Amino acid sequence: MKILLVFAHPEPGSLNAALRDVAVQELEAQGHQVRVSDLYAEGWKSEVDRADFPALTPGERLIAVAASKTAFEADALTEDVKAEIEKLLWADALILQFPLWWFGMPAILKGWVDRVFAYGFAYGVGEHSDRRWGDRYGEGTLAGKRAMLIVTAGGWEEHYSARGVNGPIDDLLFPINHGILYYPGYEVLPPFVAYRVDRLSEAGFETVAEGLRERMRTLATTPPIPYRQQNGGDYLIPSMQLRPGLGDPEAGGFALHLNGAVAAG
Ligand code: FAD
Repeated sequence: MKILLVFAHPEPGSLNAALRDVAVQELEAQGHQVRVSDLYAEGWKSEVDRADFPALTPGERLIAVAASKTAFEADALTEDVKAEIEKLLWADALILQFPLWWFGMPAILKGWVDRVFAYGFAYGVGEHSDRRWGDRYGEGTLAGKRAMLIVTAGGWEEHYSARGVNGPIDDLLFPINHGILYYPGYEVLPPFVAYRVDRLSEAGFETVAEGLRERMRTLATTPPIPYRQQNGGDYLIPSMQLRPGLGDPEAGGFALHLNGAVAAG
């Protein structure tokens, strides 16, 4: 497989950098081709602003969605964004790797998504009618490809369990897994999360690294999180609500969007 790993950590000597190297080495040992986008090292510009749309005339109001659509259609996105889109189209699998910062991804990585997932490429794709609501949530430009997260967290695993004070990790990562990765079509694998890492010993590192190697060895075969397909019949159009009778009536929230009782691992 061809794999793009998008890496968001400012420190080359960090735990995350060491785990990135473990992942890349294992993937290459398995015969995969790997490219890395190292966002801090490359000085990635994270904010969406006028500079992203040079075709805007001075004084013209920036409407981000419309500007993104026009620029994508005209092949006029900036060169840094075009290069990332080319890598996404090249890759069979996308890995986003980051430390959990304030219950989400570091701003630089969110900014990579904001700028690279352009209108016409990652959203605004497909027919919008009374039959379909675009190609999204399991369909879209990136359908047929796999994606997964590699995340490190200071908190304990129990703190992120079903009744843990931080909220369940699958809920915290739902906006990324479902809202960012599944949306443009990726099959999303359960995340690899290393907990309680802030004072990790060498022995602890080896345990985490071995778990990560195993996930890299099974990247092509791990079953994806069974999210429901938007256009597969489970949702009413245009309200986009789950049809009555589907899902566990006791369960609310994000778990409703899982097909069947299988929980994300
Ligand atoms: P580093 O700081 O680089 O290293 C962590 C430890 O690993 C160090 O003790 C280091 O010595 C050790 N280590 C062991 N082996 C190695 C090796 N081979 N190479 C390098 N280091 C090694 N946590 C949460 O759970 N939830 C949050 O919402 C949250 N928000 C945060 C917000 C901010 C702004 C910050 C700064 C931290 C937050 N944290 C949070 C904690 C954060 O998730 C962790 O600090 C981070 O995941 C640690 O990863 P790192 O790569 O930065 O580790």
